[in-house]
Amino acid sequence: MRHGLRFTTIALTMFAWVPASEAACKNSGRFGDWLADFRAEAAAKGISNRTIRSALGDVTYDPKVISRDRRQGVFAQSFLKFSARMANKNRLAHGLKRIKKYRKTFQQVEKRYGVPAPIIAAFWGLETDYGANIGNMKTLRSLATLAYDCRRPELFRDHLFDALRIIERGDLTASQMIGAWAGELGQTQFLPSDYMESAVDFDGDGRRDLLRSVPDVLASTANVLKKMGWKAGRPWLQEVRVPARLAWDQADLTIVHPRSQWVKWGVKGVGRQLKSDAMEASLLLPMGRNGPAFLAYENFRVYLDWNHSLVYSTTAAYFATRLAGAPRISRGRKEVTPLSVEQVKRMQNLLIRKGFDVGGADGVVGAKTRDAIKKMQIKYGLPADSYPSADLLRRLSAG
Ligand code: CA
Repeated sequence: MRHGLRFTTIALTMFAWVPASEAACKNSGRFGDWLADFRAEAAAKGISNRTIRSALGDVTYDPKVISRDRRQGVFAQSFLKFSARMANKNRLAHGLKRIKKYRKTFQQVEKRYGVPAPIIAAFWGLETDYGANIGNMKTLRSLATLAYDCRRPELFRDHLFDALRIIERGDLTASQMIGAWAGELGQTQFLPSDYMESAVDFDGDGRRDLLRSVPDVLASTANVLKKMGWKAGRPWLQEVRVPARLAWDQADLTIVHPRSQWVKWGVKGVGRQLKSDAMEASLLLPMGRNGPAFLAYENFRVYLDWNHSLVYSTTAAYFATRLAGAPRISRGRKEVTPLSVEQVKRMQNLLIRKGFDVGGADGVVGAKTRDAIKKMQIKYGLPADSYPSADLLRRLSAG
């Protein structure tokens, strides 16, 4: 399915950075002319005049949306900081209450889609505080502004067409389309194309209403997760303890081993014993070998599909384990001091000079940067946990 990047307030500050070349692009042509062309194209695609008029009749360019778009910064919070803020006590208590209140609906949703309540409730809580904070921006105005703008016109043009189709289908009226600034709608923040493709009417009133119908929200969220590959009855993430010494280069989301292998290497469960069986898992160390540790199972991939940020994904998966009864995360063996964004950029520039492709010195530690870090750690004989440490930065700076 086509879900692309998500632009929620959280997601945004987390991974979506603006390359200087794109941020500096210049709009040409007047918004009014652009809008007239867009309306004609929508009519040619078979969208009724009534829908086009109601959605785009008096729509204007919103400079606030563009300044928000250009303000996106690189996310620099560590997993422990971010998860402490996002998966906090209040949100946990509130989530448990919600699961109880909607127990029946959650059961029906799990039966239909195979996604259990804690998984859905965690996204519901993180994205909008269980529907309390769905945004106050006019969706069509935001989408038209972003579709006219030079930075990502094709992406938002498609979302704007799908927003019209949502109205045409009778799910929402144009005036009901209120959401986050980049066009996300509803209690778990669907972009219009996700809404068109995956929203379901679970309360049976004939409309897919992700703003006000909790059954529709829970079922639609589960439907998206199922489409992304969620496997029913399988684990997603489990906290573990790692020994002081381990083949750290094996701690990599692209590497899986059976649990029996991890047990053999001294990885231990928290609270209960780690099963020594054939189930495959990756060792996830979001802050390196001295920080918190998890086994990430196949279902964890779905999180990275929902949001490309590893910190967000790990937090959402961890929050779901808390809602499912797991204890609070251990901080790990030692205090880990993360590098600043500037330091990460410096490290990336040094890696580029050594011939690595890190996807640009953007301050974001993505898969390519982690991979380059690991190779240099191995070269220097450092523990190869792929984590950008001050130690490695010193070594790289020394030449
Ligand atoms: Ca409905």
